[in-house]
Amino acid sequence: MSKELQYIRSLFVQEDAILASIEDGLEERGMPRISVPPEIGKFLYLLVKISGAEKILELGTLAGYSTIWLARALPEGGTVVTVDNRQEHTAFARENVQRANLSSKVSFQIGEGVKVMEQLLREKQQFDLFFIDADKLSYPQYIEKAIALSKPGAIIVADNLFFHGRVLDESDQNDAPQRLRQTNQLLAKHPQLESILLPIGDGIGVARVKD
Ligand code: SAM
Repeated sequence: MSKELQYIRSLFVQEDAILASIEDGLEERGMPRISVPPEIGKFLYLLVKISGAEKILELGTLAGYSTIWLARALPEGGTVVTVDNRQEHTAFARENVQRANLSSKVSFQIGEGVKVMEQLLREKQQFDLFFIDADKLSYPQYIEKAIALSKPGAIIVADNLFFHGRVLDESDQNDAPQRLRQTNQLLAKHPQLESILLPIGDGIGVARVKD
């Protein structure tokens, strides 16, 4: 870990016992330890607070680490709908969200991210903030569908946009980095978006849907 990151974490990010226990819990269950890092959790928390978001859609629940950061920033009556296609991930996330006393703010959906978004569109649901952190191949579809599900001025956040350096290595023509290059182009050039890609974590994109 760089000295800068150590400094940021020690000064700006306080994890409580529940958040701090999640990585070990993932390891014990043989699940991938791919939750967002603590500074991204704090960044998501601040985005919710600053924007005043009340309804959030998260793609990629895993153990609920980012879900807890998002839900903790919500005002009374606010909700996070979080989607994962793995039953066992959702079950562990439910436990963690319950331990964090946030069950009333979180709704879990088990299913394919794109399919769940299509269902939410049919139900005419709308969201203030999206956090995209599921399979990389679907990112362009997630962005397009998030725009369709947006309230005016909504915020779209997408993680892993550098994909561990592979996005910048043009000799890597595999599907995931290719799809993420396409995602970055979409975020940068979509006529309905104003966006930036920040070099924290594995590269995090933040976009605002124009009014
Ligand atoms: N956001 C979580 C956090 O920071 O705590 C980490 C999410 S993890 C990087 C990605 C999750 O996406 C995994 O739990 C995986 O099961 C889920 N996933 C993968 N493909 C998916 C799909 N097609 N639809 C929904 N979820 C999917």
